[in-house]
Amino acid sequence: MKRNWKIKSGVLTKIKNLYKKGGLNPRFYAYRYCFNSYPDNFKISKYPFDIIAEASNVCNLRCSMCFQVDDELPVRTTTKVPFMKMNLFKKITDECAKYKVPALKLSWRGEPMLNENFTEMIRYAKSKGILEVTSLTNATLMHENICREIVSAKMDQIVISIDGFTKETYEKIRIGADYDVVCNNIKNLLKIRGKSNKPFIRLQYTESDINKHETERFYHYWKDKVDEITVSYCQDFGSTEKIDPEDIPAHSFVCKQPFQRLVIMTDGTVCVCATDVMGEISIGNIQDSKLIDLWNCSKINELRQQHKAGKYQHNPMCRICVHNVFMANKNAGLSVK
Ligand code: SF4
Repeated sequence: MKRNWKIKSGVLTKIKNLYKKGGLNPRFYAYRYCFNSYPDNFKISKYPFDIIAEASNVCNLRCSMCFQVDDELPVRTTTKVPFMKMNLFKKITDECAKYKVPALKLSWRGEPMLNENFTEMIRYAKSKGILEVTSLTNATLMHENICREIVSAKMDQIVISIDGFTKETYEKIRIGADYDVVCNNIKNLLKIRGKSNKPFIRLQYTESDINKHETERFYHYWKDKVDEITVSYCQDFGSTEKIDPEDIPAHSFVCKQPFQRLVIMTDGTVCVCATDVMGEISIGNIQDSKLIDLWNCSKINELRQQHKAGKYQHNPMCRICVHNVFMANKNAGLSVK
């Protein structure tokens, strides 16, 4: 699609948004710098920069492009625990605080606001000094009381998935959601936040053949209301099982994720990246291991070495993942190495 407008991605906008997120805190800028530069140099920090501790692995929606529509998901995942318990979340947060992990994200495979402890988790993480507490949400359950809790807990960033500008298109993609409720919830959060800069509010629009005719209108409507808008291109996560890795051509690619973060499932299972929704490369469980030991274990180091040597293709999951990213970018008309 030819665009005659631009997503807010200019250098000045990026600096302004960075300042909105980090204020005058030097620790924030140091962490952001290292988060981006360490993987480029294959450098491994003493601790992860970012922990994803998912509050929920179930979702109240059945969006057409999401792996949640895959009926086999519950039996294929290693975890059958829908919500992370508060005591496990506290253990993870306490370890993050001990090792000065800067960022903690509460969402991954499911809708985090389904967990009744969602706002308590934010409050606990902020009370322990975690620099950046964030979450993605579909905002269907972000009612007024949740908005008030989020603002008063000083959550740092909330990313809201909303993929359409009309009710008809949005509800065709986000099966089970009500467009009017979601728009109203976002406007309520903006009103309750008022002039405060917390949480930073980003809208995330996943573009596909169904909604690409509305992207421009969506952007112009929301651009001055929220802090940031990102448009990503739809990847078909549901198709991974149907592709034979041997049939996929190799691309030139090095993944940053094994150098940046760990991902923790609701039951404490730890994975090396956010793509591993089935827990195929699990490296242990945080309930009986230390965060720092998992970060330095042989399995994750082996994966790092594969990427460093330019041999990610040896890992079937990486091979499919890179192929999906390549195809999504190609379909969006972007060039990928
Ligand atoms: S599957 Fe491999 S390439 Fe994809 S995000 Fe995970 S580590 Fe990176």
